[in-house]
Parts: sequence; structure tokens; C-alpha cells
Amino acid sequence: MRAVRLTQVGKPLENADVPVPETGPTDVLIRVGAAGICHSDAHYRAGISEIDRLPLTLGHEVAGRVEEVGSDVTHLSAGDRVCVHYLVHCESCEFCVRGLEQFCRSGQMIGKHRDGGYAEFIKVPGANAFRLPDEIPFEAGAIMMCSSATALHALNKARFKAGESIAIFGFGGLGFSALQLARAFDCEDVCVVEINPAKLASAASMGAIAIDARSADPVEQIKEATAGTGVDVALELIGSAKTMRQAVLCLRPLGRAALVGLTAESMSIFPYTELINKEAEIIGVSDHLASELPALIAFAQSGKLRFPTDALRVVALDAGQINAALDAFQHSIDHVRAVIVPKV
Ligand SMILES: [Zn+2]
Ligand SMILES: [Zn+2]
Repeated sequence: MRAVRLTQVGKPLENADVPVPETGPTDVLIRVGAAGICHSDAHYRAGISEIDRLPLTLGHEVAGRVEEVGSDVTHLSAGDRVCVHYLVHCESCEFCVRGLEQFCRSGQMIGKHRDGGYAEFIKVPGANAFRLPDEIPFEAGAIMMCSSATALHALNKARFKAGESIAIFGFGGLGFSALQLARAFDCEDVCVVEINPAKLASAASMGAIAIDARSADPVEQIKEATAGTGVDVALELIGSAKTMRQAVLCLRPLGRAALVGLTAESMSIFPYTELINKEAEIIGVSDHLASELPALIAFAQSGKLRFPTDALRVVALDAGQINAALDAFQHSIDHVRAVIVPKV
């Protein structure tokens, strides 16, 4: 089969011809219908995030049609449409048995520790394949398994509930999903904090209160927009100590700041006045859980979580086109996501 693989860190991906993976009794073989090209793939290619072995087929955002089903897999049949949970886990360690597989002792990320979806076929454990309703195109089914799933996990970790207000710092792929999911939860006000005018306009057109961090202190602007009280939940999706601190400061009493963005900087907080007094909470968010995916798929099926066709750019299963899409991440200022659709 055709695959596009990383053979050397820091070099462009290459077209390859590799055997179709052999499936065991607990696996399914999926004919890839779509594979999202993600910012983390650019990091793997550049060597910013370490990977286990080379050559490696990248691609952790995958949807497609089941081609073969292992004898122990009972919830799927050949021909089913599915999307893939990217974390392969053991199902037996102390974390997996509690449904916390993101801490699995032997967890493996698809497209990082094992071959991913930049290929005609992918083999995954049956437990990682979730049925994808007909209403959701493969392209949307693929990309929602990464940033949208993590946005939902962040809302869940922050215990976000109907009637609460929220501030979203950063309106990239995560923020785009977080805004729609917050509305699906029936939220009060949503403030979106950005410095990019196009993203601010896009957030406003989706019904958010656009907070332009270039024009004045975003914390003051959020308080002004919420009758002086601040928000119940703040999501930090950027990965900067400055915005993490702002996410804490914009909280009202009993507020929760969920930190998703990655940074090596340290942040400072005055514990008494900024946290203890308000009984505020700072919560770390990492990845998402298989148990959250059925709800995510249901939001997409009902149209509450959408990826308009102008937000998707289709590329072929071809190293040249995929490398160009990975290069484009450095300059991207919009929500357009590149998705690989292999030609049959
Ligand atoms: Zn991703
Ligand atoms: Zn485990």
C-alpha cells in the first residue's frame, strides 16, 4: 500500500510502498477515508517532539471504513464507518481500569509510537475504533478526534455546566471547537481572547464576545463584559505564562481555569488574593479519554459541532502535498485544516 512516512527527523516526509498491516484477533484494519494533518505532525517532522522509531507513518487523526475485523472484536463489522481514538492503551494497568488511559503505563500514540493514518490502511485495536454516523463526513470525523476531543476534555475537566460563563484564550483549532462545544453545553456569555483580527471577527460571527488583547487588558475587558464579575471557567489554549495568569485573574469566585496550552515558562500567582480568597482552581488538561468520544460524536451528528467545508482543505496521499501543508502551519492565521483523502 502507499504511505507517507518520516524517515529522517528534520527532513521532508517521503512517499513509500509498504505492506498492508497484518491484523491480530483484537485488531481492525481500516481503509483510511481521511487523515488530518496536525500541528503536532509538524513538530514530529521537525524533531521538536521526540518520536520512538523511524521510519514512521505519521497521522493520528483518522477516520475510514472497516476493511477487516479480528475474531475477538464484536462491536464492528467490515464496511462500518469509524473514527479512531489515537491513544492505544493496555486496558489492564491501574489507570486503564479506572478509565484514565491517558496515563497508561504502556500507552502508545498512533502516528507517533506506532504507524498512523498517512496511508491507505491503518491497523488499530478494535477498542480504538468508534462508529462514525453517516451524517459526519470522514474529513470531519478525522480532525475532531484531536483538537475537538481535547476541547471537550478541557470543558469536562473544568466541570463546565449549563448557565455558566466562559473565557477562551486563543481561537485556533482548539478554540474553534471549544466555542461550539461551550454553546452546545448551553453556556451563558462566551468571551474569546485573541490578537488576530481575522480570528476575532470569526469568533464574533459565531456569537462570541470578541476580546481584542491588543487594545486593552483582556482581564479588564472580560470583567466589563460580565457585569464586573468575571467568568466561571477560563480555558487557556495558547501556552503562554502571561495568558495563563490572565485566565486565573478573569475568574469569578469558585471559578476554574483549565490550562491546555504548553509552555516551558513558569507562571506567578498571588495565592491569597488571586486564588484562595475566591476558592478558584487551576486545572491541568492533557489529551482526552475514550469515554468522552461518544458525546463528541453525538455533538457532531446533531450539527452542534461543525467544520464548514471552507474550513477544510483536501490534499492527496502524496508527500509533496503533505509537506507543503505541514510547512503552512508556520504561517497559518485561519481555521483552515488540511486533510488527506487517499484516492482509491
Ligand atoms: Zn492532532
Ligand atoms: Zn494501561
